[in-house]
Amino acid sequence: MNKPAMPNSFRTGPDEQGMFGIFGGRFVAETLMPLILDLEEQWNKAKTDPEFKAELQNLSTHYAGRPSKLYFAEGLTKHLGGAKVYFKREDLNHTGSHKINNCLGQILLAKRMGKKRIIAETGAGQHGVASATVAARFGYPCVVYMGATDVARQSPNVFRMKLLGAEVRPVTAGHGTLKDAMNEALRDWVTNVEDTYYLIGTAAGPHPYPELVRDFQSVIGTEARAQMLEQEGRLPDVIIAAVGGGSNAIGLFHPFLDDKDVRIIGIEAGGRGLDGIEHCASMSAGKPGVLHGNRTYLLQNSDGQILDGHSISAGLDYPGVGPEHSWLRDSGRVQYEPILDDEALEAFQLTTRVEGIIPALESAHAIAHAMKIVPKMDKDQLVIVNLSGRGDKDVHTVANMLGMEI
Ligand SMILES: *Cc1c(COP(=O)(O)O)cnc(C)c1O
Repeated sequence: MNKPAMPNSFRTGPDEQGMFGIFGGRFVAETLMPLILDLEEQWNKAKTDPEFKAELQNLSTHYAGRPSKLYFAEGLTKHLGGAKVYFKREDLNHTGSHKINNCLGQILLAKRMGKKRIIAETGAGQHGVASATVAARFGYPCVVYMGATDVARQSPNVFRMKLLGAEVRPVTAGHGTLKDAMNEALRDWVTNVEDTYYLIGTAAGPHPYPELVRDFQSVIGTEARAQMLEQEGRLPDVIIAAVGGGSNAIGLFHPFLDDKDVRIIGIEAGGRGLDGIEHCASMSAGKPGVLHGNRTYLLQNSDGQILDGHSISAGLDYPGVGPEHSWLRDSGRVQYEPILDDEALEAFQLTTRVEGIIPALESAHAIAHAMKIVPKMDKDQLVIVNLSGRGDKDVHTVANMLGMEI
């Protein structure tokens, strides 16, 4: 494949068809078309409406706790002995991760559109919990589709969603994981056109979702950029984030895309290594294809069947990736690297010990990459790692990996 021509700006996409180069788009059943066109139109109006912005800003401040801090990780910096490491503290948000940024934006969009029933998909349950949270806050009924396998292995989050008043519907199709839950949510949406809003949890799905989720998450990068300028008087040299579907990463990256001297690195789940199929590195080891309404890099076998993938961290095991990342990969603006389960586990333990911060296993992937490059950098260089969430949810997994019982 030829390298696509370099655009003047990396921040203008997608085009009117929802394409980022050859990626993205809206590959959906004809019955879904009117719904996503309506959503696109409403979103275009909402994003320039001062009232919409003010309401989102108010909730972000007083409900979610924004702005999140840009924290100088002095303990980790000393330990690594190279560049200065900063954490963008999305772990301090209400519900413990960046997911609330997107959920607040979308629930306000649903309200504006007069849709009173919320549906969502979830894998590990983090997005399900954040969706159930905003639905509770706004008094809307909420149905969360969750693969039956995930329901069985994520019981605390299932219970949280129920406490918040949501109905959790186990999906038995396929392997009963996130991919199947997302298919089922799309099916529900088509059959309940009138009153239902589909609250997608990452920067994937048919246009306009990748764009609107990115825009709601871009608050991360917008804040981080201003905070770094204020605290250090200049931009960072490197920024790093973990990529599942890609929402926290694109949220951090997007405001920096046209800062040519800022190196941008996305970290995929390398699982047990890229040789076999026990990983979730769709961009390092996948091929372009169509899933959930968009064209993007996917994990697939030689027949084009979508593979399930594996990661120690449930939030990273989506077999695809948001289409904007696929485009940024092929254009070379962003570098994508895999991190193994064991490396993430080590970063999780180190950060906990030297910073007194228990990071989410997803975020630990990004930290693990920092651990590789920071010691080789100069002491006056600056690195931002997106701390996408807190790791309380992961202590059982970690205990298990370490052969301990809680
Ligand atoms: C869900 C989740 C992720 C992965 O999702 P993205 O859409 O890629 O951001 C990463 N970190 C945490 C803490 C999560 O909960």
